[in-house]
Amino acid sequence: MNTNELWQAVLGELELTLSKANFTTWFKNTFVSEVDETSVVVGVPNMFTKAWLEKKYTKDILRSLQELTNGSVKHLSYRVEMRPANPQIVPLFEKEVAVGFSNDSRSSLQQPTTPTPVVEVRTGEFSLNGKYAFHTFIVGKQNELAHAAAQAVSQQPGGVYNPLFIYGGVGLGKTHLLQAVGNELIRKNPSTKILYVTCERFTNDFISALRSGRIAEFKNRYRTVDVLLVDDIQFITGKEGTQEEFFHTFNQLYQNNKQIVISSDRPPKAIPALEDRLVSRFECGMLADVGSPDFETRVAILETKCREKAYQLEREILHHVANAVQTNVRELEGALNKVIAFHQFKDIRPTLDSVKPILASFQPTSTRKSVTPKQLIHTVAIYFDVQIEDLLGKSRQKRLAFPRQIVMYLMREEMKSSYPSIGTELGGRDHTTAMHAYDKISNCLVEDEKLQHDLELIKQKLYAL
Ligand code: ADP
Ligand code: MG
Repeated sequence: MNTNELWQAVLGELELTLSKANFTTWFKNTFVSEVDETSVVVGVPNMFTKAWLEKKYTKDILRSLQELTNGSVKHLSYRVEMRPANPQIVPLFEKEVAVGFSNDSRSSLQQPTTPTPVVEVRTGEFSLNGKYAFHTFIVGKQNELAHAAAQAVSQQPGGVYNPLFIYGGVGLGKTHLLQAVGNELIRKNPSTKILYVTCERFTNDFISALRSGRIAEFKNRYRTVDVLLVDDIQFITGKEGTQEEFFHTFNQLYQNNKQIVISSDRPPKAIPALEDRLVSRFECGMLADVGSPDFETRVAILETKCREKAYQLEREILHHVANAVQTNVRELEGALNKVIAFHQFKDIRPTLDSVKPILASFQPTSTRKSVTPKQLIHTVAIYFDVQIEDLLGKSRQKRLAFPRQIVMYLMREEMKSSYPSIGTELGGRDHTTAMHAYDKISNCLVEDEKLQHDLELIKQKLYAL
């Protein structure tokens, strides 16, 4: 583990809790500048960021650093400093040194001094990032249409799927697909003019062009490309001037058979305050949605990511991660990164016991709707084809006892119910029965793939209610 990996792991966690705009604003161009066994100095681009991070994020960053270093890091400070040009490939210190956290070395481990670059360090946000390629995208039922359409577009831009409109929840691969289209086209023909922008960026560009009287330049920039990729178009809602401008940009490109690919968190019709003429433009090409990955896809994604990182995890651990994080691929990756970072840092092999506590923070997010015990009991009863009265009744027949234990397990795991209340819901049983059921199912889950699959399906049913 080097300091960059440590910092990436911290950022990975923060990213989950912040809006994209917030995250980019405050954490772009930050890095670990200096570290010794108990303290970390984070390099930040300016005083403003320094003050803001100190005030708002120190607690979260420190907590995350502590988790990742097993409590070693106690102090965190910031320093205004330019980020080295290629922090990814500059190891700040080697693993052997990292282990020095626990030995006597008191020397402060400064990064090798790299000449301060004068060039602006661009983040991937406004330009194409090579890691988003088709070959790193795992295809499952929930995204095969969007994937196929994106591939078709990269084969024949400005062809049948124009515009391509990809929509779905956060962290499900929309940006990845948009960028994969761009990367693939560039790969085939490096002179293709591709412009990838977030809607926010388009809006800001437009506003500053208006202010500075450079509207002609703006139009030229956007209307002369071969391919325009606009990410998160839903943010155009309520911005009338921007919508108007985008409408004209769109028409100009479309008339010239230039390809437009757009992403959004919802279909065009569901974007509030989006002008009808834009809705109908967006709908006139191809609409493709991306959904949450199923268990098999999640495992395949984890396997790929492990291969990319050249880190091996046993199957049961991969399955455990895939079960623990179900909502989206970004969280799934975040969880995996956290697992890897933790074990690399401590230099130990991951086991189920060492992995479980790390995943505890990846509880179902608030986007997941809440369900009632009644719904849960109902779903499990249907799944195992038993009567609800029998499930709640006294019989200890295995065909009833097992689904009953699953109900108890899920009430604890998914709904965080107390053991006594679980007992009460299950026909007035003792809380120790609920505890026993929870332990038993937890243990079985480790080995039993069929059970993992059962629970997966039950949960899918439950949250799709
Ligand atoms: P969105 O734009 O829909 O919020 P992203 O495209 O940013 O989501 O995806 C979040 C992360 O998950 C990215 O690192 C992306 O590479 C990864 N990811 C998403 N879907 C897949 C997939 N099907 N296969 C591999 N990686 C994926
Ligand atoms: Mg995105």
